[in-house]
Amino acid sequence: MIMLKTEEEIALMTRAAELVAETHQILRREVKPGVTTLQLDAIAETFIRDHGGIPAFKGYRDFPNTLCASVNHEVVHGIPSARVLREGDIIGLDLGAIVHGFYGDGAVTVPVGSVAPPIDTLLAATEEAMYQGIAQARVGNRLSDIGHAIQRHVEAHGFSVVRDFVGHGIGRHLHEDPQVPNYGRPGHGSRLQVGMVLAIEPMVNVGGPQVRVLDDHWTAVTRDGSLSAHFEHTVAIQPAGPPKILTMSKERVGVT
Ligand code: MG
Repeated sequence: MIMLKTEEEIALMTRAAELVAETHQILRREVKPGVTTLQLDAIAETFIRDHGGIPAFKGYRDFPNTLCASVNHEVVHGIPSARVLREGDIIGLDLGAIVHGFYGDGAVTVPVGSVAPPIDTLLAATEEAMYQGIAQARVGNRLSDIGHAIQRHVEAHGFSVVRDFVGHGIGRHLHEDPQVPNYGRPGHGSRLQVGMVLAIEPMVNVGGPQVRVLDDHWTAVTRDGSLSAHFEHTVAIQPAGPPKILTMSKERVGVT
């Protein structure tokens, strides 16, 4: 069942989502050759707790950390470790925060130092695909219009969309109905309506869409070893026009 949110609830959710965005801003500055993913995790946890939030992923189904840190061919759900980032790596930084009992969820994938131009293209195309999907998240459209727009943009670049993981509704729970696939034919699924809050999160592989989960039971990697990128925003459907992106830091609201 889709839990619609009131304006007041969305205002509360915005604080959690802003904290996610602010944590990303902090982490972007810290991603550099020589840093470990566990150091990034500690920075994220401290920042969230210092700003009145609770890390949403830590303890969720026994996930051990604040941050999902997914490097190179890791798609999502990488567990922070003593792994040292190296020049030319890419790292997905997926994190959530709980404030006032509501969740915010967001992800970015960033280069470590400078990366080869084809990798820049992967990152740009994945982020663009997310925004193409977000643009379809408007009243009157149907759920699959989001995934269709994402898939079309990704495949136009010769990349592939992961099927095994999808976006989701979000609110008092991290994962609520509906599921939001990043692929599909347009015009199917629930009609989008005011009060829906969705986490839209394409995962895009350079090679095939297949993934497998490592023995740690969390880390998903591309089956063919190709690179993968992941971007995510939490958005609220508006009475008209495109949705409000909640995972924006205050300084950046209105800029994009
Ligand atoms: Mg999510």
